[in-house]
Amino acid sequence: MIPTRIAPVVIAVLLAALFAVAERARLRQDKREAARLDASGLLVLWPLIFGVFFGISCAEGLPVFFLLMGGVVVWLLTTLCDFLNWRLLTALPGLILGAVVAVQGGVGISSVKLPFMTDFVALGWAGPLVTVVWLATCAMVFGWNAGLLEIPLGVAGLAGLTMYGISLLQPEMVGPGAQYLAGMLGVLGLVLVPFARYLSRHTARAGAVTVGFVLGGLSVLGALKHTAFLVALLPLLVIGVPIFSVGYAYIQNLRHGGRSLTMGERRQNVDMLLLTQGYTRRQVVVLALAGTAYLCALALLLVWLIEVSFLVKALLLAAALVLGLATSYVILRLLPRPLRVERSGDRAISLLGVRVHTVGWEAALAQVEEFLGEDHPHMIVTSDSSTVMRAQEDQELREIMNQADLVTADGAGVVLAARLLNLPLEERVSGCDLVGRLCEAAARQHRSVYLLGGEPGVAQEAAAVLQRQVPGLCVAGTHHGYFNLEEEALLVREIAAAGPGVLFVALGIPRQEKWIKQHLEELGTPVCIGVGGSFDVISGRKKRAPVWMQRCGLEWAYRTWKEPWRLPRLAALPRIVWLTFRELLRR
Ligand code: UDP
Repeated sequence: MIPTRIAPVVIAVLLAALFAVAERARLRQDKREAARLDASGLLVLWPLIFGVFFGISCAEGLPVFFLLMGGVVVWLLTTLCDFLNWRLLTALPGLILGAVVAVQGGVGISSVKLPFMTDFVALGWAGPLVTVVWLATCAMVFGWNAGLLEIPLGVAGLAGLTMYGISLLQPEMVGPGAQYLAGMLGVLGLVLVPFARYLSRHTARAGAVTVGFVLGGLSVLGALKHTAFLVALLPLLVIGVPIFSVGYAYIQNLRHGGRSLTMGERRQNVDMLLLTQGYTRRQVVVLALAGTAYLCALALLLVWLIEVSFLVKALLLAAALVLGLATSYVILRLLPRPLRVERSGDRAISLLGVRVHTVGWEAALAQVEEFLGEDHPHMIVTSDSSTVMRAQEDQELREIMNQADLVTADGAGVVLAARLLNLPLEERVSGCDLVGRLCEAAARQHRSVYLLGGEPGVAQEAAAVLQRQVPGLCVAGTHHGYFNLEEEALLVREIAAAGPGVLFVALGIPRQEKWIKQHLEELGTPVCIGVGGSFDVISGRKKRAPVWMQRCGLEWAYRTWKEPWRLPRLAALPRIVWLTFRELLRR
C-alpha cells in the first residue's frame, strides 16, 4: 500500500532535483532571464502535469482534475489583472469562478462534527458556499504574500508535505488523489524557493494566488471533507503564517489609518512591515518559514494524538501557539538590523537606568578624535553586562556612567538586551579592541599614551606590543596597578606632567572608573578610559577567546573557563535577562 502511495512523490523528488541542478547551472552562467522563464513555466505546469496524470488515475481523480482546472482559471484571470495593472482585489471574481469550477467537480465540505458531538452535521447548500469562500480566501492570502515569493512557495511546500505526512499517519482522512497532489505541491514549492527571486512580478503574484488556491482545495479534498472541528483547524494551522501576516498588517493599517498613513505606507503583510523596519529579505523569509515549519509540526502532532481528548489537544495547541508567538517576538527583537539612529540628537540610550551611547566603531572613533583635539579631560566607559548589573546596586558607579562623555557597549549581553528593548544600539565596541584603535588615533594626532594598571611589568610589555603594532606611537609612561595612597598622589602628578593624549587605566571594574572620576580634573588628560584586563591580553600573558567565540558573543564563557574564580560574575547574566524581560513587560 505505502510503496504505491510514495512512488509518485519519489518521482517528483527526482525530477525536482534534476530541475534544481539544471537551474543552478544556468544561474551560474548568469542567464537569469532563461531561469526566470523556465521557473515561471514550470511553476504552473508541474502540479498540472503530475496532478492530472496521477489524480485522474486514482479513485478521487475527478475532484483533483476539477481543482486543477479551477487553478488554471484562477491563474489566467489573475495574470490578466496583473498585466492590466489592476489591484489584487479585482481578481476576486476570477477566484470565485475558479472555486465554482472546483466545487462543481466535487471539491467541497459536506459535513462537520463539532467538539463534544457524536454525529456529523450535513452542511447542505452551505457546504459549497463555505468551500468557495475558503478557496478564495486561501488564494487571496497567498496573493497578498507574493511580495516575497519565497514565503508563499515555502509555505505551500511545507503545507503540502505536512498534508502528505497526515495522509501517511491517517490514511482514511486523506484520499489518494489529494495525497498525490499534496506530495507534488510539497516538493515543488520547496524546490522553487531558491529561485523565487528570479521570477517576474507578474508570475509571482499569479503563481502565489494559484498555489494558495490549490492548497486550499487540497485541504478540502483531504482533511476537511468529513471533518471534526479540530481537524478543520489543521489547514488553518499549516497556512497560519500567511494568514496571521495579512491579518496583523490589516489591523496595524486600521490602527494607523486615521493618522498619517498614505496608500504607499499601507503594508499588505507583516513581511513588508518587517522589511521597512530594516530586517533583511533573508531574515524575514527564514523566520516565516521556520514559523510555518513549527505550525506544520504542531499539525502533525495533533493528528498523531487523534485519540486523545479534545480538551487536552485544544490546551496543548493554545500553549504551543503562545510559546511560538513569544519566541518569534524575542527572535525578531534579537536579530541584528541596521537601525535608524538620529545622528543629530542625543546618541545615548538608557539601558536599565544606565546610559549607553548608540555609537558603532566609526562614530566612537570620530568622537575620540574630537576629544583629543580639545583641552579639557574626557572620560570613556566600556560597559558590559556585569558593569550594567553592578551599576544597579552601586549608585556611585551608575552616576559616573551616566555622566561619562562616552559609554560604549562592551559586551554581547548589553547589545542583546538593547535589541530586546528595541533600543537603537548599533554594535559592540569592545574595550580590548578599543585600546589598539585609540593608539592609532593618538598616533595620527601626534599625541602620546600612558598605560596604568596590571601586575608589575604587564603595562610595559603591553606598551611594547602596541608600539610594534602602531607605527609612530609614543608611550609617555607606564605604571603597574598596585600602589598605595601616597604613591597614588605622586602617580597622578607624574601622569599629569607627562601630558599624554590618552590614559588607559586597567584596575578592574569598578575601581578604574571611580579612580578616573576622582582624578579626572587633576590629570587633565583629554581621553581617560578604563580597560579592565586588556593589558594582560595585549601583552600576551593571557589568551583572548578565539575569534568565533568573540563573534558569537561568548567571550565571557571563555574567560570563565580559563579563570574559574570569575564564576560568581556570571550571576549577572540571568539577572540582566530577567531585568530586561521585566522592563519589556512594563512597556
Ligand atoms: N588590577 C590592578 N590593581 C588592582 C587590582 C587589579 O592593576 O588593585 C589589574 C589586574 O592585574 C588586571 C586588571 O586590573 O590586569 C583587572 O582585570 P579583570 O580582567 O579582572 O578586569 P575586568 O574583568 O574588571 O574588566
